[in-house]
Amino acid sequence: MITKILDVSEEPINIEYIRQASEILKNGGLVAFPTETVYGLGGDATDKEASCKIYAAKGRPSDNPLIVHIAKFEQLQQISKDLPKTAKLLADAFWPGPLTMVVNKNQVIPYETTGGLDTVAVRMPNNPVALALINESGCMIAAPSANTSGRPSPTKASHVYEDLSGKIEAILDGGPVDIGLESTIVDLTEDVVTILRPGYINMDMLSEVVGEVRMDPGIVYNDKGTTEGAKPKAPGMRYKHYAPKADLTIVDGSEDKVITTINQLSKEATAKGKRVGVIATSATAGRYNDAKVLIIGDRADEQSIAHNLYDILRQFDELDVDVIYSESFATPKMGQAIMNRLLKAAGQKTLKV
Ligand code: AMP
Ligand code: MG
Repeated sequence: MITKILDVSEEPINIEYIRQASEILKNGGLVAFPTETVYGLGGDATDKEASCKIYAAKGRPSDNPLIVHIAKFEQLQQISKDLPKTAKLLADAFWPGPLTMVVNKNQVIPYETTGGLDTVAVRMPNNPVALALINESGCMIAAPSANTSGRPSPTKASHVYEDLSGKIEAILDGGPVDIGLESTIVDLTEDVVTILRPGYINMDMLSEVVGEVRMDPGIVYNDKGTTEGAKPKAPGMRYKHYAPKADLTIVDGSEDKVITTINQLSKEATAKGKRVGVIATSATAGRYNDAKVLIIGDRADEQSIAHNLYDILRQFDELDVDVIYSESFATPKMGQAIMNRLLKAAGQKTLKV
C-alpha cells in the first residue's frame, strides 16, 4: 500500500483532502491526523475491523484500548451509559482539549475498540483538522498515537511516515503539533475522579472543576522506582513505552552537580568506545563535554520541554548513540506529565546526585 500524504498545514484547510480522508475512514481504512497533543492513527470507532487494523499497523497488543475522538458532547452520550455529572462539568471546562474521560460504554462501540473493556475512553481534540475530519466523515474516530508500539509518540507528520508508511492509507499533515505529550486520562467510573495518565491538564486544574481528584496508585513511583505493587488501571501504562534505542538515565539534583556527574559519566563511557547523548536545556548545553548534546528547550518555558521531548528521543535514535543522560524536568505545571514520559523512556532509571 502507498501511504498518501495530504498537506493540510495551511489555512484555510484544504477541504478536498479532508473529504478524501473521510472517504477512507468510511470505507474502513486508516488515516493518521494531527491533534493538539500528538498525531493519532484513526479508524471508524464503531467498526471492529478498522480497530483490528489499527492494532496491526502499530504492532500494538490488542488488549490496550483505543481513545475515541468526537466533535460534539452528544456523541459521548451516544456511546456511554450511566454518564456521571462530572463528565459535563469537565467537558464544559476542558473540551475541546487534551483531556480524555473513561466512562462506562454501551453497545455502540465494539469490544475490539476498547480492548475487551466495558469502559470507553473519549476525547474531543482541539485541532481544526481533527474536528473537520470527524465532522466530515460523520465517524467517531478511534485513534491511539500514530507510532509503532514502543516508539516515542509522533509530534510531526514525518514521525508518522517513519513508522507507518506502507501500512496505512493516508496521513493528514497539519504541521508540528502544539502540546507534544498525550492527553491527560481521567477515570470517571469510580467515586473519586482518578488520573490514569498525567498530561497538560494537571491535578490542580481538574480539582478546581470537580473537587477531589486522586492519582492512580499504579502510576505513582517511589524512590526505588516501583509502584509498591499497584498496577496501572490504563492498560497502556503497563507497557514499556516511548523507549529510545539507547540506554537512558535521568540525572537529578542541583544544576552544578548534575552537569559534573553527566560529564564524568560521559567521559567514562566515551573511554569505553560508547557514543553518548545528553538531553540539556538552552542554559546548560554549553557546559557538557564528550557528548552529542541536544537542547530540549528552556526551563522557564516548560511547554517547550513537553513539545520537544519525543522529537529529541527520535533524533537520538537516528544519531545512533549508545547511552543518553538527561537532566530532570520536574517543572511546576507539566512536570508530572513530562517526568512520567521521561521516566518511562528511562525504564525508571534515575541517578540522584
Ligand atoms: P494512546 O492513544 O496511544 O495514547 O493510548 C491510549 C491510552 O488510553 C492507553 O494508555 C490506554 O490504555 C488508555 N485507555 C484507553 N481506553 C481506556 C479505558 N477504557 N480504560 C482505561 N484506559 C484506557
Ligand atoms: Mg501511544
